[in-house]
Amino acid sequence: MRVLVIGAGPAGTRCAERAAAAGMSVTLCGAEPALPYDRVALGKVLSGQADPPALISHDAARLCHAGITYRPATRITALDVASRTATTARGETLPFDRAVIATGSDALRLPLPGADLPGVHVYRSIGDVLALRRSVTTGTRVAVIGGGLLGLEAAACLSQRGARVTVVHAVGWPMERQLDPAAGALLAKQLGAARRLSFAMPAKSEAIEGETHVRALRLADGRRLPCDLVVMAVGVRPSIALARAAGLDVARGIVVDDAMRSSAPEILAIGECAEHRGVVCGLVAPALAMAETAAATLRGEAATYAPRPDTAALKVSGIDVWSAGEIEPADAEAITLSDTSAGRYRRLWLRGGRLIGAVLYGDTADAPFYLSLMADGRDVGAIRAMLPFGLAFQDAA
Ligand SMILES: Cc1cc2nc3c(=O)[nH]c(=O)nc-3n(C[C@H](O)[C@H](O)[C@H](O)COP(=O)(O)OP(=O)(O)OC[C@H]3O[C@@H](n4cnc5c(N)ncnc54)[C@H](O)[C@@H]3O)c2cc1C
Repeated sequence: MRVLVIGAGPAGTRCAERAAAAGMSVTLCGAEPALPYDRVALGKVLSGQADPPALISHDAARLCHAGITYRPATRITALDVASRTATTARGETLPFDRAVIATGSDALRLPLPGADLPGVHVYRSIGDVLALRRSVTTGTRVAVIGGGLLGLEAAACLSQRGARVTVVHAVGWPMERQLDPAAGALLAKQLGAARRLSFAMPAKSEAIEGETHVRALRLADGRRLPCDLVVMAVGVRPSIALARAAGLDVARGIVVDDAMRSSAPEILAIGECAEHRGVVCGLVAPALAMAETAAATLRGEAATYAPRPDTAALKVSGIDVWSAGEIEPADAEAITLSDTSAGRYRRLWLRGGRLIGAVLYGDTADAPFYLSLMADGRDVGAIRAMLPFGLAFQDAA
């Protein structure tokens, strides 16, 4: 069976490996010129801790040994479901029996005046990171728009390279989707002290000023942040244009069933471009789990993708923060353990006697314990009093 995998990110590459291992004839097309690489580790290149070759996850020998025909710099521009062919940007026609769309997401760019000036960057691909790295030297003033996981990671890495970084965030505390206000305040304080980051929060960006290059970021409250670079880290949008043009059902992502089949059963979709039961994933673990399910479907097995609660951890060394599940839901009870002078804080949310969300700050060793309670949906009524103290105290109780 000829399988065409479109997109050589973690999801596409994993599915290609599994399909090839099952004896299928696999072609993996990636729009980026590089060999498949570890996108999650891009911060190491941005901070200067690593160079791009260190991030390569699948070199030519590994792909060849796996039996995968890899085509870098090959963007698929059209998919014809009826004739089972794909067209590349160079006009070639690639026939397939099954296709797997794994086109991931594109970084969003705010449509601000000045957004097309040289010096305005996003943080998604190795190409983005190399462009940023070339532009930053000691003392470069950078405004990072977006205080979510990626914005903070970019800000910390740029600061490590000697840049003077201000994070501009629309909400009053960073990572508001993963942290409650108290944990967010601790994080902002620690990032300020340990990483020399400044914050403008809550603040809305209004325009990027400059004629030939970025000079300043103007905020809606009238403030003007002089800067040499702007990094937009304001979220991603699933890459679904190819699927939409092919007539597949799309909502936010490409709509798939539990077996990762799109509305055309011979076309599967996985990773950040797929939408399963109304949810589009934004993390690598679910993207890889979808790839495993799709590979099983290709092998003709009855496979079902079972999502687990999302978790989030900031990859800034020396800062331990973790969260999972629902954060600050209105209809849940909360238990808080706060020792902020020691930099430790925990907040857990329970509904119907079950743990449904958790934030850990300062000590994240118990993250797997809380995650398993959430994933199993266990009744925690009997251990409730000791719950915020973590696993060690459950054993002692
Ligand atoms: C800097 C950074 C740090 C991150 N850190 C974490 C982390 O710590 N933990 C975590 O869980 N997640 C993290 N993520 C998110 C994680 O990288 C993604 O969830 C994961 O990469 C999704 O995999 P994917 O294969 O679905 O999509 P992608 O990785 O986006 O790969 C899709 C690939 O398809 C290619 N493509 C698109 N259209 C076409 C086309 N028409 N033809 C051919 N190829 C195409 C794209 O160029 C891209 O290479 C991070 C992301 C970034 C950017």
